[in-house]
Amino acid sequence: MAEEANKQPEQKPAAQPADDMPDWSAYRGVLVYIEHRDGVAKSVSWQLLGQGKKLADKLEVDLMALVIGDNVKHLAEEAIAYGANRVFLFDAKELKSYRTRPYSRASMKVIHEIKPEIVLFGATATGRDLAGAIATHLPTGLTADTTELDVEPHPSRLLLASRPAFSEKMMATILCKQYRPQMATARAGVFEALPRDPNRQGEIVQFEFAMNESEIAAKVLDFIQDQSKINIEEAEIIVAGGRGLGGPEPFKMLKELADELGGVVGASRAAVDAGWIKHEHQVGQTGYTVRPKLYFAIGISGAVQHLVGMQNSGIIVAINRDPDAPIFKAAHYGIVGDLFQIVPAITEEVRKRRGLSFLQEETAAAKSTTNEEGGIRV
Ligand SMILES: Cc1cc2nc3c(=O)[nH]c(=O)nc-3n(C[C@H](O)[C@H](O)[C@H](O)COP(=O)(O)OP(=O)(O)OC[C@H]3O[C@@H](n4cnc5c(N)ncnc54)[C@H](O)[C@@H]3O)c2cc1C
Repeated sequence: MAEEANKQPEQKPAAQPADDMPDWSAYRGVLVYIEHRDGVAKSVSWQLLGQGKKLADKLEVDLMALVIGDNVKHLAEEAIAYGANRVFLFDAKELKSYRTRPYSRASMKVIHEIKPEIVLFGATATGRDLAGAIATHLPTGLTADTTELDVEPHPSRLLLASRPAFSEKMMATILCKQYRPQMATARAGVFEALPRDPNRQGEIVQFEFAMNESEIAAKVLDFIQDQSKINIEEAEIIVAGGRGLGGPEPFKMLKELADELGGVVGASRAAVDAGWIKHEHQVGQTGYTVRPKLYFAIGISGAVQHLVGMQNSGIIVAINRDPDAPIFKAAHYGIVGDLFQIVPAITEEVRKRRGLSFLQEETAAAKSTTNEEGGIRV
């Protein structure tokens, strides 16, 4: 396994360029930008490595990662654990916080030297900014906010970057024939990360960062996290409510359950459009695409535009009084009944069980103390 990951994949003979395409045989490999904040990676980066691996396998090339920051070697190691064969690392104090100029300079240096055929970024605020800056400088084509990524195999090797278009009414597949690399930003939650394997082997290539602080116009004075904002894309548990809640008030009931479980509240568009809850909670085609471990769909019918945003969740629990609601087709567990009775009952049960597990932990702690002190078994 380890050796296999290190081995350079056999390159096919240079692509026969299609009639209307230049010869791009100097460009090979898939590169994924690993986004982080203060050394903590965004899960979209691992998801993109997962998808990048599929593309790289189909093209029979390396999957590579790009890590830029200060004290971020651990992220390069993580990138290997999540599937990268080679990681390019810039580690310098000037790169502590994201700033367009130094980050795009560093990225372009790698792109010029490595010549990847595909470069992928998360469609986050940072990913969009960085990818946009790089694509304009190179220059090359960039498809933003994609939800499907595939490749045509040899000889065309074209990236098929698809995204909803025209107010989400159709899917557009966008090709970049005349420039390299082919670049795309992709939505969080759409693609699946590979299982983390700390034994996976790969190569870390350190790059020197050759810019002085005096050459960087933007200064970061402080980073103030908006505590009121939720981060639904990174949440492991989401308790989502829809029109079935009947108003803004019952969202408090959902918040109680979410708090008990350590999750966040999500919503359907119907609830958001009614003004019951803010758009940052909206899950679906025109909201966020999420991939939590556990997703509660409460009073949500399961319209296709909602399903596309949450159908990849680990476990889906639906609560709806209509047994024919389409959400039950997507759900792993379904409860047919009145949400106003069911949700408080679940919250109560979670509280009870958490209380019990807390007691169990205490008992276990007491046991070990007693054993240590007096050897008495409880
Ligand atoms: C271009 C476009 C983009 C869209 N984007 C999105 C999107 O991003 N996200 C999204 O969610 N939608 C989106 N929609 C809207 C989508 O089509 C649906 O209208 C919406 O998802 C419906 O929301 P809902 O399930 O909350 O409401 P409804 O479909 O009205 O369902 C409410 C459900 O609650 C149940 N219910 C009612 N009372 C109770 C009770 N007391 N106990 C238990 N169950 C109860 C009902 O049986 C029903 O199934 C989009 C639509 C379009 C055209």
